[in-house]
Amino acid sequence: MIYLDAAATTPVRREVLEAMWPYLTGEFGNPSSHHSVGEAAARALSGARATVATVLGCRASEVVFTSGGTEADNLAVKGISLATPRGRHVVTSLIEHEAVLESCEYMRRRHGFEITYLPVDEFGRVSAAEARRAIRPETTLCSVMLANNEVGTIEPVAEIAAVAKELGVPMHTDAVQAAGVLDLDVRALGVDALSISGHKVGAPKGVGALFLRGRVAAEPVLHGGGQERGRRSGTENVAGAVGLAMALRLAEDSRGERALRLTTLRNDLIRGVLAEVPGAVLTGDPVRRLPGCASFCFPGTSGEAVLLQMEQRGIVCSSGSACAAGSDRPSHVLLAMGIAPEVAQTAVRFTLSDATTADQVAEVVRSVRESCEAVRGIARCPDVV
Ligand code: PLP
Repeated sequence: MIYLDAAATTPVRREVLEAMWPYLTGEFGNPSSHHSVGEAAARALSGARATVATVLGCRASEVVFTSGGTEADNLAVKGISLATPRGRHVVTSLIEHEAVLESCEYMRRRHGFEITYLPVDEFGRVSAAEARRAIRPETTLCSVMLANNEVGTIEPVAEIAAVAKELGVPMHTDAVQAAGVLDLDVRALGVDALSISGHKVGAPKGVGALFLRGRVAAEPVLHGGGQERGRRSGTENVAGAVGLAMALRLAEDSRGERALRLTTLRNDLIRGVLAEVPGAVLTGDPVRRLPGCASFCFPGTSGEAVLLQMEQRGIVCSSGSACAAGSDRPSHVLLAMGIAPEVAQTAVRFTLSDATTADQVAEVVRSVRESCEAVRGIARCPDVV
């Protein structure tokens, strides 16, 4: 099986599992317990926090461990908005992940916030000029993702953050897809909050983190024992945090090499598909895109049908966001980019990983051609179905 769906999830790395194992077994303490077993867990948690902080270029006290990217996004959008007294207005983009979009929608529905959705161009790019126009004196938060999960476009977050800073508005970025391939240094990005998720970088599902700048207040989303300095109650997932830290550090240590290798493979895949599959259209930014992400539309097919054909040929990929899978609505990202709904229904996304090889890419190109031919053939002769 060739797995080209790394944007959906990745397997847990062996080193990560080994780092986690003690905290699932012998060193199983609750970090809030005032005895030696608890203190050992607390030390592990604080080591993990320090490691994540090093990768993000922030203070350890600014790292809040969460149950994943979704919770980190919820805490950023809801928490910062509710704690900011200046008004009830959030600026975000049309192409955010559902974790941000639905949090904004909740703020609108339940708390009377107004949401401004920044448009994108044909490549899925948000502009800093649009952000400047949208931000108002009563804006509580600007949230724009670092890289899009469906088409891989890298957004000009540092530029947008500079505008937000000038206008005195906290800036959040969802960096879930960027981890391990782009620089997550929050000083360089100039952001006040940044979300990451473990399972996209070789840690388990169900752990993530939010960087929350010290001076930025956030109302907690989860209430209880006051863990994570009151910002996120609940007994910490010590093993998960240790795993996240190890995965991030390993990914960071080889980030440059990985980005280069994935970019080469991705470019081969894009060139191959555009040359071999009649009518294939690359979606997203042709240059400023995630190293491992190649996304296309294949007009005259159906994305789901192509995926089935690909799977029969031993290749696993996706029609876009795993979260939207199963819904037959066309992708909100592709629609925002001006792609017609009937074309958006033909989207297929390939996301490469460290396990991807040049031979696999060649095989994938062949299989995409055959799969599209098969689907178009069936569409021309409906009687054979
Ligand atoms: N944000 C983006 C851009 C994502 O791609 C995902 C997951 O696909 C999430 C947030 C949600 O992260 P998690 O699965 O850890 O909740």
